[in-house]
Amino acid sequence: MKTAIYPGSFDPVTYGHLDIIRRAADIFDELIISVLNNVRKTPLFSVEERVKILEDATKDMPNIRIESFSGLLVDYAREKDVHVIVRGLRAITDFEYELQNAQTNRLLSGEELDTMFFTTSLQYSYLSSTTVKEIASYGGDVSGCVPEFVAELIYGKFGIR
Ligand code: ADP
Repeated sequence: MKTAIYPGSFDPVTYGHLDIIRRAADIFDELIISVLNNVRKTPLFSVEERVKILEDATKDMPNIRIESFSGLLVDYAREKDVHVIVRGLRAITDFEYELQNAQTNRLLSGEELDTMFFTTSLQYSYLSSTTVKEIASYGGDVSGCVPEFVAELIYGKFGIR
């Protein structure tokens, strides 16, 4: 069985992430979406909230599992006996960071962990969780960026509506 891990902050999940999730889930037998518990970032949603949001947003997709992790991705992947990481690429600005991470992970894993990149669908190339939070914090419309229930949760966090 071919399994891949799609790690990220997902704070919160956007249509850009969901597009990558759908496409990766079509290729792999199983896709583990792993919410990174990053102590250096102050997220809008807790890890538990982000896991729950991802579960609800992907409930129609059978071969997906949502988990969370902290620490090194290579250690987590080794623990799961998974050898492929999925990441998304939006623009050249993502590339440098992603290339460095992919090469570091390959090295740290003793060349056992590869990263597979999905290029963004054009309509989502501008989309990031940060932009969505920024728009929503001013009461702007984010209905084209995230599922409706996620939009409501973001507005709730900002005390809007
Ligand atoms: P990070 O893990 O860097 O904190 P995110 O959780 O926002 O970032 O994103 C996880 C992965 O999804 C990254 O590889 C990122 O490039 C990708 N991604 C985010 N938004 C999009 C999008 N709109 N289209 C394609 N890929 C995306």
